[in-house]
Amino acid sequence: MHPAIPRLLELQAIDQRIATVRAELDSFPKRLREAEGKLNGARAALVTAKEAHSNNLKERKKAELDVAQWKERARKYRDQSGAVKTNEAYKALQHEISNAEAEMTKAEDRQLDMMMSGEEFERRVKTAEAVLKEAEQSVAKERQEIEALQGEKKKELDAALTERESTIAPLAEDVRDLYARIAKRHHGTALAQAREGQCRGCGMRVLPHTIQQLLDDANEELYRCESCGLILYSLEPMKASAQPHDSGSAASSASS
Ligand SMILES: [Zn+2]
Repeated sequence: MHPAIPRLLELQAIDQRIATVRAELDSFPKRLREAEGKLNGARAALVTAKEAHSNNLKERKKAELDVAQWKERARKYRDQSGAVKTNEAYKALQHEISNAEAEMTKAEDRQLDMMMSGEEFERRVKTAEAVLKEAEQSVAKERQEIEALQGEKKKELDAALTERESTIAPLAEDVRDLYARIAKRHHGTALAQAREGQCRGCGMRVLPHTIQQLLDDANEELYRCESCGLILYSLEPMKASAQPHDSGSAASSASS
């Protein structure tokens, strides 16, 4: 095995961890926005409830004014009725008076309706306020949790980056470059295990000679899969290959 392989495997594991942590960190702004978004419904409900309440108040105020207006008119007609000369004019005024009084009664009914329904609108505003307050508290708690987790992930990332530096430091420049180039092309994977005569990265056959080289401690070369280009390594014991180390003793025993 090439002496750099264990370190490259370690580096690859660190890089994959870094990628995972970075992806998680990237998701935090969205998670915070989603948490905030939970308040939108409660806020909108409160606005609607307040609008309904204020409309009710306006209607009530209008009914009050109507009552006062019709009352005033009826009073004026009654004042005039004492001064009329003809029976017809008197009748006409009586008619106006009863009409004004009928309108006043209608306005009073409306006013009463508004007062009664007003309590319901007020109650709905209070309920909507309570719901929003509760939602705000729960979102604040959720935000705290998200931010705490975010802090942890940042620490995790920093630790992994430090670990990466010390892991990569002893590697030769050309080995680093090769690793970086392959990892970039293969979404963070630069190494593939050669097992049972196959590259586990792509499934293509690896030549027995190459396997032997991978297992040779004296080997100073990095071998790459001819098909996918990943750096090959083998964890298999010698027996899987042609047993090159035993060949010497086998030869000597055969000669004796
Ligand atoms: Zn391959």
